[in-house]
Amino acid sequence: MGNVVTSRLEPGAPDLRMSNGLTAVFFDVLSLAASRHARTPWELRLAQWLVEHDAERSGLGVVGFDVSELGWTLESFEAQRNFLLQLIDAALAREGWERLPFQPLESSLFPVLTQFRERVASLPRQDICVEESAWIPEDPPACGRCEVHQVYLHALGCILCNDAPLDAPPAEVPHRSSSR
Ligand SMILES: [Zn+2]
Repeated sequence: MGNVVTSRLEPGAPDLRMSNGLTAVFFDVLSLAASRHARTPWELRLAQWLVEHDAERSGLGVVGFDVSELGWTLESFEAQRNFLLQLIDAALAREGWERLPFQPLESSLFPVLTQFRERVASLPRQDICVEESAWIPEDPPACGRCEVHQVYLHALGCILCNDAPLDAPPAEVPHRSSSR
């Protein structure tokens, strides 16, 4: 099982394939960056979308997406694209990683982030389709932040608490989903 990030508007673009474990780390580091940098409503919704990809919550093998379906809007596309590129660059610079509850395997993660960056950077603006259904969630973060990891919480907890080692002390994972 694994997950695939596609770019259907870019003919010939290679799919980005990740194991479930790597997918979790991918969303962890982007959630960390988004929670730090998001300011506009669109950016905050992107942050919420990222933290909601908590693999523990979504189940296995269902986290794929297409880069053309990130809720882009035509009038603000370049600013939105630049924001997402900024998040990827922050992750590649290990920004905020002192708050991660584990050490990412950079030899796996960085090639994936670099490929994702290429797909986002290459997305053809003129072909962007603005679909009503393309964006989930509709709302910006409304559950506050994890006091340990500083990422936005989703309805069932903290994406980073949920990816912490199972033997982490409870005080270090205050928002681990109760189902675990
Ligand atoms: Zn947390």
